Amino acid sequence: MSKEVVAPGDVVGVAEEYLPGENVEVDADGKLRAQVMGVVIRNDKDHIISVKPIRSSNLLLRVNDIVYGKVVAIPNDRVVIVKIIGVENNGNKTLLKDDVTGIVPPSQLLNGKPGSASEVLGIGDIIRARVISKDPPYTLTLRDAQLGVVYARCPRCGHPLKWRSGELLQCPNCGAVVRRKVSLVEYWA
Ligand SMILES: [Zn+2]
Repeated sequence: MSKEVVAPGDVVGVAEEYLPGENVEVDADGKLRAQVMGVVIRNDKDHIISVKPIRSSNLLLRVNDIVYGKVVAIPNDRVVIVKIIGVENNGNKTLLKDDVTGIVPPSQLLNGKPGSASEVLGIGDIIRARVISKDPPYTLTLRDAQLGVVYARCPRCGHPLKWRSGELLQCPNCGAVVRRKVSLVEYWA
């Protein structure tokens, strides 16, 4: 079952359907609204809807979640440190409020092609990755055609790079060609 994450003030139901439970209030129009950031819990037997607060954004991420993150460091040109900025829930992208750190180990960069991380990623790139560990710092993988860089800027002039073909991005401004492990389904430029 997928988690429905709501923010304070979000409508979680109507008073005809559910009774307000924990962290839910009824507004003047009979709408049930969340009072906290959290996960919606529907008790369909007793018709009670409540919101379980999220105290830490750690609770938001689970194994196999698809996340978006910014590459912040590549120590020793091997491990990639990522600031996770968003998560996909049923195709919707939710931004994370707190900084959550992800790590892409060398073995999760490319299928059977070990090498230096900077050959396939750059600092500042935005990547789409899958969570493969239960606890933070989250281990991420890019080993799938849909995973990889979704946005990158030209290392020479800073202009956003466009996808050219395969694993190649090109700068429309200065013509530089850059190799990346590109997400083949979701490049943004
Ligand atoms: Zn350029």
